[in-house]
Amino acid sequence: MKYITRSEKETENIGAQFAKTLKRGDIVAFYGDLGAGKTTFVRGVASVLAPNSYVQSPTFTVMIEYEGEQIPLYHFDMYRISGYEELYGIGFFDYAGGDGIAFIEWSENIEEDLPKDIIKVDIRKGENENEREITITDMRGV
Ligand code: ADP
Ligand code: MG
Repeated sequence: MKYITRSEKETENIGAQFAKTLKRGDIVAFYGDLGAGKTTFVRGVASVLAPNSYVQSPTFTVMIEYEGEQIPLYHFDMYRISGYEELYGIGFFDYAGGDGIAFIEWSENIEEDLPKDIIKVDIRKGENENEREITITDMRGV
């Protein structure tokens, strides 16, 4: 699935729509540079699944949990993480695929340790300043 958005709000809206396709145990892996719109997308998802949460990049804490209406959301930032040992150390495997839904920024850094049945969300800057190309690839059940 491919989308083009032209504002932060539009990316949030795509995230909000996408939220309705998610269920317990899902893992959403984001790809894309700094400022692409990964956190913005997660904010859109959270507006539906965890309406009262304040979503920001979990850069310094590695993981932030939002209390969802039905299920918890685990928001990871892997910017400073690499390799299985570190992933294990931050408790990644206790959260991902468990009782909630995991969202992973900078998935590039942990690509080899990610499960296969995930949903990939690739966000890149388009030709114009506020343009973004969002490609969602659902590997669940493939
Ligand atoms: P990331 O988490 O990928 O580093 P953020 O979501 O934190 O990115 O930031 C995206 C930045 O890009 C914000 O400042 C936002 O206002 C800006 N922006 C401009 N156009 C868009 C768009 N179409 N979608 C998402 N963000 C956009
Ligand atoms: Mg971010």
